[in-house]
Amino acid sequence: MSTGFYNVPIPKNEPVKSYAPGSAERIDLQKTIQELRTIHVDLPMIIDGKEVRTGKKVEMHPPHDLAHNLGCYHQGDKTHVVQAIEAALKAKAAWANTPWQHRAAIFLKAADLISGPYRAKINAATMLGQSKNAYQAEIDAACELADFYRFGVKCMTEIYAMQPESTPGMWNYNEFRPLEGFVFALTPFNFTSIAGNLPVAPAIMGNVTVWKPSKTAVYSASVIMEVLIEAGLPAGVINLVFVSGPVAGEVIFNHPDFAGIHFTGSTGVFQDIWKTIGTNISRYKSYPRIVGETGGKDFIFADPSADTDALATAIVRGSFEYQGQKCSAASRAYIPKSIWNETWPKCEAQLRRMKMGPPEDFTNFINAVIDEASFDKLKGFVDRARKDDEAEVIYGGNCDKSVGYFIEPTVILTKDPHYITMQEELFGPVVTIFVYEDNQLDQTLTLLDETSPYALTGALFSQNRYSIDHITKRLTNAAGNFYINDKPTGAVVGQQPFGGARGSGTNDKAGSVFNMLRWTSIRTIKETFVPARDFSYPNFLPDK
Ligand code: NAD
Repeated sequence: MSTGFYNVPIPKNEPVKSYAPGSAERIDLQKTIQELRTIHVDLPMIIDGKEVRTGKKVEMHPPHDLAHNLGCYHQGDKTHVVQAIEAALKAKAAWANTPWQHRAAIFLKAADLISGPYRAKINAATMLGQSKNAYQAEIDAACELADFYRFGVKCMTEIYAMQPESTPGMWNYNEFRPLEGFVFALTPFNFTSIAGNLPVAPAIMGNVTVWKPSKTAVYSASVIMEVLIEAGLPAGVINLVFVSGPVAGEVIFNHPDFAGIHFTGSTGVFQDIWKTIGTNISRYKSYPRIVGETGGKDFIFADPSADTDALATAIVRGSFEYQGQKCSAASRAYIPKSIWNETWPKCEAQLRRMKMGPPEDFTNFINAVIDEASFDKLKGFVDRARKDDEAEVIYGGNCDKSVGYFIEPTVILTKDPHYITMQEELFGPVVTIFVYEDNQLDQTLTLLDETSPYALTGALFSQNRYSIDHITKRLTNAAGNFYINDKPTGAVVGQQPFGGARGSGTNDKAGSVFNMLRWTSIRTIKETFVPARDFSYPNFLPDK
């Protein structure tokens, strides 16, 4: 029984630890990495709170060290998806009826476990399983995930406080019901925090979910599930299945109780899912909520007044952190001719200082790309650029998969602003640069705006306030997250609500009230205290 209007703790962004030599966190993380490297894990699915092992074992290898075996996970099939849905629906009534402060407490506890006793483990699992360096793992797996849970709880209470007016004689109120049915969380490989947020955001709002992580991020997904269980998540509220996407989709998108999808991944997959849901629409009990954050072809645009030190740093950090495998990573840049000769040596000097190798060596900036398919695809684009007349590989381009999937940070210079690598999302450490004539600035803005189907992130470098105003307006619809004099990556929960429009997604802004509102179906209640007792209006009375 609720007996108060409780205030939830005011969320603060989890401070990012430095991992400087000799620091306690560095020692702890290195020890945990060593431990995880010496054991072989055996990861089950979690359905109805129970560990499910099928015996169909899939080995996991660090993308940067293919010879090493981290252990395995148990692959499921259609029957496990059916079981996961049944478990979710069974858990639904109790979870929906749980007072919100108890739901909140579970996720606040999970945040404290992630930023506390599980910090090293979730970072180590992300480093080994997804080939992230310590800093990138820290900002993602530890900090952003804790932020998602803490800010998610705060957003929930802000939504519950959204109440209508009441006039004399009545009381109106909004009841924020979970959706009828279950929510499907379909998560990508590249952010542990996104993987942990997509099933949890609907659960914070009282929904039950079926969660299918990427096959290349099962290790960290299992740590997230371990944390949620330790935090007290009841059985069946979130069910973790290891099946292929199409297998999960076939069962889920045909189920009458399918109530919504919380997706992050590529645009093609999302568009196929949308089509399937459309085709099946008459089978569902309600219109499913479709929330998807998808691909990008994120840009950096500089005008002639740009600070070239800041611009060069943004190009190399924005393009190559986590090997460019961020939806927000810069992958095309437009630089005016007048500052190109000053900017490029500054980029090159920083690139020469970037070391590539396994994340276990903390001095490496660049690690491996996620898998062989990604490696082969990226190598194909680099090889093609070497041959094409319109393009020139001016830095990097060497690819080697003998030990792990290593691709050097690669810079392509093109004379053709529509060259394929200026348009397509490659999702790797490759940036393409187009140098424009200074007197073509406006035409170049039009080009930028119309070159790709995406509109996720973009950055503008300029020191001229009129120009900043002009360009920001011209690019109104080119990005959902727009940065002025900063790289286009690194959105922080609670500070830069994240998401893009056009082909980049539904722009529901993960980690904000805008997203959380999608996971509730409002019932508005009007109670009249002294109801009318006769149908007639006062004007029915005759004139005196
Ligand atoms: P992906 O689309 O390959 O996979 C995402 C999820 O969908 C995985 O769990 C995968 O198994 C599943 N899936 C794949 N094919 C499927 C199918 N046919 N049916 C059902 N499920 C299917 O994406 P990824 O490679 O894991 O992640 C990279 C992509 O995600 C990039 O395009 C990136 O831009 C995007 N991304 C976007 C954001 C954002 O906020 N906009 C954030 C992170 C990543």
